[in-house]
Amino acid sequence: MADLADLAKEREEANREAALAAFRARARPTGESAYFCRSCGERIPDERRAAVPGTNHCTFCAQQITAASPHSIR
Ligand SMILES: [Zn+2]
Repeated sequence: MADLADLAKEREEANREAALAAFRARARPTGESAYFCRSCGERIPDERRAAVPGTNHCTFCAQQITAASPHSIR
């Protein structure tokens, strides 16, 4: 018979996993990536579109945005 501490630990781990999954879902939007960069209008390479689902920026602009604001979009 599992004691109360084990049950509490299991529950806590399940809650943490669910919270992390929800956080990841918000932080990493999925879906169709843009074909053209929202910042500069350049075509976003297919490799990047596949590697970063939901991206709206080319690699260069994403780096500029990230450098300017670490918590900004990709
Ligand atoms: Zn760009």
